[in-house]
Amino acid sequence: MFLELRQLDIQYPGSDTPAVRGVNLGLRAGDIGVLIGPSGCGKTTLLRAVAGLEPVSKGKILLSDRVVSAAGQTEPAETRRIGMVFQDYALFPHMDVGRNVGFGLAHLSKTERQKRVAEVLELVGLAGADRRYPHELSGGQQQRVALARALAPKPDLLLLDEPFSNLDIDLRERLAHEVRNILKAANATALLVTHDQLEAFAIGDVIGVMNEGQLHQWDDAYNLYHRPATRFVADFIGHGVFTPATLREVEGRIMVSTPVGELTDVAECPLPCAFEGGQCDVLLRADDIVHDDDAPVKAEIIRKAFRGSEFLYTLRLASGYLLMAHVPSHHDHKLGEWIGIRAEVDHVVTFNRACPVNNRSLCQMPCAQAGGNACGVGLQDASSVVKLEKTAE
Ligand code: ADP
Repeated sequence: MFLELRQLDIQYPGSDTPAVRGVNLGLRAGDIGVLIGPSGCGKTTLLRAVAGLEPVSKGKILLSDRVVSAAGQTEPAETRRIGMVFQDYALFPHMDVGRNVGFGLAHLSKTERQKRVAEVLELVGLAGADRRYPHELSGGQQQRVALARALAPKPDLLLLDEPFSNLDIDLRERLAHEVRNILKAANATALLVTHDQLEAFAIGDVIGVMNEGQLHQWDDAYNLYHRPATRFVADFIGHGVFTPATLREVEGRIMVSTPVGELTDVAECPLPCAFEGGQCDVLLRADDIVHDDDAPVKAEIIRKAFRGSEFLYTLRLASGYLLMAHVPSHHDHKLGEWIGIRAEVDHVVTFNRACPVNNRSLCQMPCAQAGGNACGVGLQDASSVVKLEKTAE
């Protein structure tokens, strides 16, 4: 691993709890890692510690097997060969693009410097822009200049802190794709912080989901979506609900009973014995619920959000359970209408049965991990994880 974090804790002076707790991760050379999570979860703190700008209280940070941070030991930022890109671009307004990009290249001769500036400007798609000033550039162009400046000294690791958050939403995802291509072309290893999932998916080879200082999962986008390790990850990535289910084995096959019907032919399902009485919660994603007029199960549309090619419907079954469904937008049903639905689930993601809201005592159950499905009990507040409670109204 090029960058390794081992059992990392970071605690600010005067704070009772660490801002980052027990984080382990490894980033290979040439890979782009992304940290996502809600505001205040510790992403920036972690990034600053990797940069050498924040001391660690426990654990270690290694760069190419060299310990650069441990308790009481912080190798200074200047010697880590790290480049940084911030959300506010931090370009020098009185310097033209060429001088901004060449800022960290004082050790090179003038000719070498000019060559390198031209090279990185070409890389970020701004060849020939060296005489322009930051105020003459769009936000996206300024951010590419900032990226060129960070890449110019050929850092071993590039750290990017919310680099697109000052840009329009439309531009963000496009620039994220562009930046990915630029980083790959430069063969750079990078760690980026964002709170935006689309951005994370557009740019990251590996993505870490953080909450309250903990890293819940460090994985590729597919696994985060389809094999979330904790309820928090399941909840944070994509749309869906947790619904109570019972696992049974019938003639060697696992059947999963849910409020939306029986799921069969499911891959990666744990054996019923993984849960007491086979009772668990399953994750039903909005894409797992298919609108089908002929389906015997009906649900009432109680909320709808237009997403261009599709609607995201929030549905309520007669039993009171809620579901979410992506439905092509030409199926423009009204609120209050009942539509036919069925579940189409390839592989089942199970969790220990959640405690009903305000009854956290059930959360004391030991976590039964099985079949690669993880249980998030103990990692978060129960009230934040029960999305699919029976509605009382
Ligand atoms: P994120 O980048 O995910 O929004 P941060 O890393 O900025 O989160 O913050 C994590 C936690 O650490 C928050 O509770 C925040 O209030 C706290 N924190 C951040 N910086 C400082 C600081 N300099 N001193 C004390 N607490 C801080």
